[in-house]
Amino acid sequence: SLRAAIKIDIVVIGAGQAGLSSAYHLLKLGLKPGRNFIVLDRNEKPGGAWQHRWPSLTLSTVNRVHDLPGMGFSEVVPAGETEAKASVAVPDYFAAYEERFRLPVYRPVTVKVVCDRFERLRVETDREAFSARGLINATGTWESPQIPDYPGAALFQGRQLHSRDYRTADEFAGQHVVIVGSGISALQHLDEISKVTTTSWVTRREPQFRDTPFTPEDGRAAVAIVEDKVRNGLVPGSVVSVTGIPWTPALRAAAARGALKRLPMFSEITANGVRWPDGTEQRADVILWATGFRSSLDHLAPLQLRGEKGGIVMAGRLATQVGKDPRIHLVGYGPSASTIGANRAGAAAARELATHLGLL
Ligand code: FAD
Repeated sequence: SLRAAIKIDIVVIGAGQAGLSSAYHLLKLGLKPGRNFIVLDRNEKPGGAWQHRWPSLTLSTVNRVHDLPGMGFSEVVPAGETEAKASVAVPDYFAAYEERFRLPVYRPVTVKVVCDRFERLRVETDREAFSARGLINATGTWESPQIPDYPGAALFQGRQLHSRDYRTADEFAGQHVVIVGSGISALQHLDEISKVTTTSWVTRREPQFRDTPFTPEDGRAAVAIVEDKVRNGLVPGSVVSVTGIPWTPALRAAAARGALKRLPMFSEITANGVRWPDGTEQRADVILWATGFRSSLDHLAPLQLRGEKGGIVMAGRLATQVGKDPRIHLVGYGPSASTIGANRAGAAAARELATHLGLL
């Protein structure tokens, strides 16, 4: 496009935990909202991906949503409200947070593409274009669900859906549901759906259950593994795939119901179900893919960030900086893809970028 771009120092893309944390720290470093930095977010309303989470995900069933810097969750949602829907409570908190700090979040604005223009980065959106000196990308994963390819998928006459589109178990009553995946989402779906109908559980790898809850040391160890991967340019993978899944009372009850009998991955999908290499078939009305997400980075494609190992080489103190380019930071990527990781990475990215641009 030939439109004149609005000049600004820093564009933050995304207003989830990672983008808001980054914006907070830019503000605290003395940068002027609207003049030195802005935040662009595709959603109509505050809340990042949380506003889209399935309704049965409550504050008691999420892992844990860490406070954003500078304002506690309990200021907005009283500590006892464990049954509140995460899709309502977290967005309420984010909305109050944006207002408290008067963060310059513009929405709905979708960033279409970012291109390198010598000293500057051109950020094209569905509204204005921006010409920035630095970028903090905090676009999460929610918009990039992953469904692996299996032969026959197009023949299936039942319903296929991804976790992202899961709402409630009740809609599957009376149907046979095949649930694919070994992460926390798969197990939550399995728990809920196996209470109302018959299920099959299929995973590529043997799921790793653990008898003890996560400790902060486990968390740090897992993050260190993912950080090591991205510093070497590998695709990050999820933090949970490293830590394993702790037994909860709900999972023990599901196991007692017989719902956690795991099957290996099928090799093909048929019109009426799924089939394994030995010819065994399972009739199915629904295939629910709880097969995770990848980072939503397509708008950065012209920057050619990916290296030969398929991932992006990350540098900087908390692995937020893209390779040798100090202008571009990814927050919520790899080791910072959690609410606590996003907080810390937002602080690191804000300081490193503001320093690089001479804004401090
Ligand atoms: P998001 O919250 O996804 O925010 C990204 C924002 O960027 C969105 O508003 C999006 O619309 C916007 N965006 C994307 N692309 C563009 C674009 N091109 N232009 C403009 N805007 C764009 N982590 C925990 O620590 N604890 C938990 O309990 C937990 N539970 C989870 C449960 C589920 C079901 C899932 C899928 C994940 C969970 N996670 C949890 C991981 C969680 O996603 C992260 O911790 C964190 O919320 C991600 O924040 P974020 O800011 O990176 O991304």
